[in-house]
Amino acid sequence: MALKDYKKDMVRCARCSVCKFIPLSSIIKSWRFAYGCPAIARYHFHSYSAGGKLILALSLLEGRITPSPKLRDVVYACTLCGLCDHACKIGTDMEVLEILHEFRVHLVEKGEGPLEAHRPIIESIKNYGNVWMQPRARRERWAKDLDVKILDGKKVKADVLYYVGCTYSYDPELQRVAINTARIFQTAGVDFGILGRNEVCCVSPAYMVGVTSLFEEVGRANIELFNELGVETVVTSCAGCYSMFKSKYPRLGVKMNFEVKHTVQVFYELLQKGKLSPARWNGGQVTYHDPCHLGRLGERREPSHGREKYVLGTMPVKEIPKAMGAKGICDEPRALLDALGAEGKEMERRREYAWCCGAGGGVKTGVPDLASFASGERIQEAVSTGAGVLVTACPWCEKNLQDAVEQARAGLRILDITDVITGGEV
Ligand code: SF4
Ligand code: SF4
Repeated sequence: MALKDYKKDMVRCARCSVCKFIPLSSIIKSWRFAYGCPAIARYHFHSYSAGGKLILALSLLEGRITPSPKLRDVVYACTLCGLCDHACKIGTDMEVLEILHEFRVHLVEKGEGPLEAHRPIIESIKNYGNVWMQPRARRERWAKDLDVKILDGKKVKADVLYYVGCTYSYDPELQRVAINTARIFQTAGVDFGILGRNEVCCVSPAYMVGVTSLFEEVGRANIELFNELGVETVVTSCAGCYSMFKSKYPRLGVKMNFEVKHTVQVFYELLQKGKLSPARWNGGQVTYHDPCHLGRLGERREPSHGREKYVLGTMPVKEIPKAMGAKGICDEPRALLDALGAEGKEMERRREYAWCCGAGGGVKTGVPDLASFASGERIQEAVSTGAGVLVTACPWCEKNLQDAVEQARAGLRILDITDVITGGEV
C-alpha cells in the first residue's frame, strides 16, 4: 500500500499530540519520563512528531511542499519505534507507523532517500549478505568450538533453525549471545541447527529505510530457504529479525511452512517443561528493557489496506483489528528473570509503553545524535530504578545502551538475558 493510500488517515489526524507522550495518565508516573516519542523529545518541533510527519506527508502529496534534504532529514529522524502508533490507536484506528514507513518508501522512489549513511549498509547486504561488510564464510566462526549442526535440508536436518542474525554472528562483543544460546539449547536437548555461511541478512535495515525492492528480493529468498530446510520453527535472538519474520515476511506472498519465535519464548517454554535449569542469579537488582520489536511491535501487525466497514451505517472503522502492542513478548522475559531469582525493578516506561533505545529505524547509523539522546535517556531511567543491571534481548538495544553507559560513565551493567540464564556458563 503506497503513501497516497493512507491520505484518509492523514486527513483524520486530529493534531492532538497524544502521539508524543505515554498515552494514559494511569501509566505516567512523572513528568521526567512522560515523553514517549524520542524524536519530539529531542528536537521539540512538531514536524518531528508522528502527527507532524503526517501533516508533512499530506502537504507533499497535495503539492504544498516538495522533497528536500531537510524534509528527508526530518522523515529519517525517527526510530520507527511505534510508540506513536500505539498512543494514537488508543482513540483511533489510524495506521500511523505504516505511514511513517511508507513516507520513506515514497522518498526512496523519488530518489530522495535513504540517507547517505545508509547506503553502505544497503550495498553490504547486496554484496556480502550481511550489514557489516564481512565475508560470508566468517558468519559461522562463532560456532567453531561448539558441536552445532549446519543445516542443508537434505543430509543434515533439525526441528529448529537457530537464525543467528548479522550482529550476533559477527560482532566480537555480541557473539557470546549466540554461544550462550547454543549452549542453552544443547543442555536442554533442543534439536537445532544453524545455516552458517548460508545465512543471509533478514533485510530489516533495508526495509526500515524504505528500500523495498531489496526487502522483497532477499525476504522471499529467505522464506524459500527456510522452507527447504523442513524445520518446524525458526528461532532468532534478535528482536529486529524476529519482527521481520513475524510481521513483515508474511506480506511477501510466499507461504511460510514454519513457526517464528524469539529465543526468550523458547527459553520460557523450556523452563515450563523443566528442561531449563538456570543458574541462580546473584548479581543484584535488575531492570528489563523491552526492545520495541519484541514488546509493542512483537505483536503480529497487518496493515488495513484502507479497508473499512461502517458501524451503525455511519461510523467508519478499519476491518482489521487494531494492533495495540499489548500482546507482544513482555511476560516471558520477566517470568524468566523471576525464575532466576533476579529482583526486578521496573522502569516507568515499560512493556508496550517502553522508551526506545534509539538504535532502530536506521537512526544509529543515520542520525547518531538522536540515537545517543534516546539511549542516554533510557540509561537515566534505568539508573533511577536503583537497579545495577539492565537486561535486554536485542543486539541493537545492547550496543546502543552500552555506548550510552560508557558516554555517561554510569554505574550500570548491560547484559543480554542469556547472560543471566547462564550465569556466565551453562
Ligand atoms: S497521529 Fe494520532 S495521536 Fe498524533 S496528532 Fe494525529 S491523531 Fe493525534
Ligand atoms: S516511531 Fe517512535 S520516534 Fe518515530 S515518530 Fe513515532 S514515537 Fe516518534
